[in-house]
Amino acid sequence: MGLRLLCVTAHPDDECFAFGGALALASLRQVETSIVCLTDGSAGSNRGPASSARELGLLRRAEFAASCRILGVNHHEILDYQDGQLEHQTLAKLATDLVQRIRILRPQVIITFGGDGGLNTHADHTAVSAAATAAFHWAGSPKRFPALGELYTPQRLYYLTANFFLEGRLRHIPAPWTLTLDVSSVLPRKREAMRAHTTQAPLMERASPIFDQHGGQEHYLLAASVVAQPATASTDMFEGVME
Ligand SMILES: [Zn+2]
Repeated sequence: MGLRLLCVTAHPDDECFAFGGALALASLRQVETSIVCLTDGSAGSNRGPASSARELGLLRRAEFAASCRILGVNHHEILDYQDGQLEHQTLAKLATDLVQRIRILRPQVIITFGGDGGLNTHADHTAVSAAATAAFHWAGSPKRFPALGELYTPQRLYYLTANFFLEGRLRHIPAPWTLTLDVSSVLPRKREAMRAHTTQAPLMERASPIFDQHGGQEHYLLAASVVAQPATASTDMFEGVME
């Protein structure tokens, strides 16, 4: 029983920079929250004191764990895919790992990036979106990976989107949003989780004015729903979800 939310990400820090408001709000209302992050971020351009990719990966794993604690996330896991290389993985392999997690965690709601790859159009984000979408649709299908645990059909898939563009960067091509979350009450917690990523401090500095301007809301598209319905505007990703 109870509500469960799974967030599928590519890099340690996506959970707070991108989805932190949704995760913190869900945690506050006692929704059981999980994150599956596909890489350890060891190819990041901000490297802190790390002298090797392995060392950076280890630092970022610890930062991710701290950020998850601050956001109140119940389960978090980093898989062993290579940062910056997700687009070269087969869809079948990525989806296998995610279907397995969905069948264990049994989330009613899954959130992930849209096909645009987020505000920074990162190819890893686009690959995560494709794999999470496939896994969402396949987890309950007897035709897909029947040996990978008990079939389970989540109820809703949401893609992160945005109502603004980053200045001075390649423009992403955003999905329209159906869900607007007022995350202003948990913005301090989201910022605190962002600060836990100490190797990413330069990014935090650049992002801070953007969050000053846009940080009060997160926008999502309802990309799939077990209920056939028209797209309608909503402010609660769990409204109407069955426990
Ligand atoms: Zn990322």
